[in-house]
Amino acid sequence: MKTDILGVLFDDLTMDQAVQAGAGLLDEDTFHYVVTPNPEFILDSEKDPEFRAILNRADLSIPDGVGVIYAAKILGTPLRERLPGIEFAGAMLEELDRRGGRLFLLGAKPGVAERAGENILAQHPNIVLCGTQDGYFQDEAAVAHQIGQARPDLLFVCLGAPKQEKFMARWGAYLNTRLAIGLGGALDVLAGDTQRAPEAWRKLGLEWAYRLFKEPKRLGRMVRLPLVLVKALWRRLLGRRADKPI
Ligand code: UDP
Repeated sequence: MKTDILGVLFDDLTMDQAVQAGAGLLDEDTFHYVVTPNPEFILDSEKDPEFRAILNRADLSIPDGVGVIYAAKILGTPLRERLPGIEFAGAMLEELDRRGGRLFLLGAKPGVAERAGENILAQHPNIVLCGTQDGYFQDEAAVAHQIGQARPDLLFVCLGAPKQEKFMARWGAYLNTRLAIGLGGALDVLAGDTQRAPEAWRKLGLEWAYRLFKEPKRLGRMVRLPLVLVKALWRRLLGRRADKPI
């Protein structure tokens, strides 16, 4: 049973349970994809039905943003915990290492995926890095073909939303991949170009504030995020069904 937060469906899992579910998908022979929605996804998907449908068809949907957790609480359908995509990705790399599996990294600026790959291999010697590709390409079909030829077990798709989710949904059948995960700016973190917030900030649910402090240009994107909480409050007060527009 998924939890509906303002029209986007989430799996209500602990990190251990999510990793277990992800590992299960990694062991199956068919294509699966995981999404990591934050409040921005919820707002964007209100105006983009294709994006919302793709999010809601995902094999696993984990709340990557404290705003989602607060909105869930306000709506009276609390989620167990925030599951940062980057931490889920780290756990999937552990699983892949245990299996000696193949990894493809897609996204970010030229050179970033290669450096992220080097760092990953330094810590996970059993992983086979079967390909990298930056996220500023023109020909989606050619990139999907390149991934399909590389036959990765695990694919990180880091193109920002909704581009990464649309890529996974559109090309999944051609990727020869067991598990694709949409991970936003994760390659920048794995390459060491972006730092995550210190643990104390994270524990306080202030990772977003740290990011804003480090990258003030995100302000334009972030000012509208409290809207998710306002909408949740409004919906709760009105007791309206989640699929009706506010
Ligand atoms: N990106 C990309 N192709 C594009 C647009 C963005 O590869 O056409 C990359 C960008 O370089 C960054 C990531 O996608 O590494 C998106 O980062 P963002 O900050 O939007 O994601 P978040 O961390 O907020 O999910």
